[in-house]
Amino acid sequence: MRMLRWYTRSSLNRGQCPHFKPFPHFSFFSINPNQTNKLSLLDLVFDLKRMIVHGGAWDIPKDLHEDHKKGCSRALEVGYDLLRNGGNALDAVEATVVSMEEDCIFDAGCGSFLNEKGEVEMDAMIMDGRTLGFGSVAAIGKVRHPIKVARLVMERTKHCMLVGEGATDFAREMGFEMIEDHCLVSEREIARWKDIQRIKGFHQKDAFVERGPNPMGTVGAVAIDDNGDIAVATSTGGTPHKMPGRVGDSPLVGCGTYADNSSAGVSATGYGEALMKVCIGRRVCQSIDNGMTAKKAAENAISFLSKRVDGYGGVIVLDRRGETSYAFNTPSMAVGFIDRSGRRRVRI
Ligand code: ASP
Repeated sequence: MRMLRWYTRSSLNRGQCPHFKPFPHFSFFSINPNQTNKLSLLDLVFDLKRMIVHGGAWDIPKDLHEDHKKGCSRALEVGYDLLRNGGNALDAVEATVVSMEEDCIFDAGCGSFLNEKGEVEMDAMIMDGRTLGFGSVAAIGKVRHPIKVARLVMERTKHCMLVGEGATDFAREMGFEMIEDHCLVSEREIARWKDIQRIKGFHQKDAFVERGPNPMGTVGAVAIDDNGDIAVATSTGGTPHKMPGRVGDSPLVGCGTYADNSSAGVSATGYGEALMKVCIGRRVCQSIDNGMTAKKAAENAISFLSKRVDGYGGVIVLDRRGETSYAFNTPSMAVGFIDRSGRRRVRI
């Protein structure tokens, strides 16, 4: 019987009342002391802004902890600066995920895993908790930033999701630079791909626990702005050595990604085939809708994932009151969030 471990953290707890409405409170701290823009009086009085990010849930080796922390911290800085400068939650999560897609330590953008054929196929989704509008792309290649394409699917098409060549063609039409496939294929991933070829009976699920060839982490971000609008974005290269055309949980609404202003925003990471079976994002939001705290909702969802489908993964949650929380049952998870005082906290 496999040992199951799961962990939760909650950064702040602003009371459990389900009827809680954002109320004015004071925040005198800057996350970046060198920032030139000063806090306005409005900033001090109406400060609901919060963010939480993840850089994957798996068995992160000690020597990669620092790089993961740096990546999460940089991403938080980008997104939170935007929020502090009056940007909305959607802009903040998009910019945050763009910064993580640029950081090859993560399984997203330039760090993406290769599929069985040695190609990169990426999934991404962005969701607006105000309207429940979302845009997603799946099995897309040739672009540096799938999350930007997902945003345009939401804003410039009458559809919600585009896949494969259709998604790439749309990106081309929207003026995205088309990069050669080899630009997204890193040396590190070629080496991993060769290693996996040698493993008899390799299963993608093994990649998330101690016994597997370590994957890198999918990335995700959830933000709430001062209007109380919640947005979420998730981006991934999927799982190592997946079949061509395989789509994970990340770009599926209610699975790896979900946001609703009336409850919370959620981004998941882990073994997608299990996460999608339990519609983990929507499950967390439903629990919060029913009056559960973000912490409890995250714990319950991960416990259900384990028991019901023997799945592995983690979720980050940011609820409508600004409470951040996360839970996971993999050996570790890279997480960063803005605490009550506006400071960045990053943990593995
Ligand atoms: N959930 C992603 C997928 O299955 C992988 C990950 O989160 O690491 O595509």
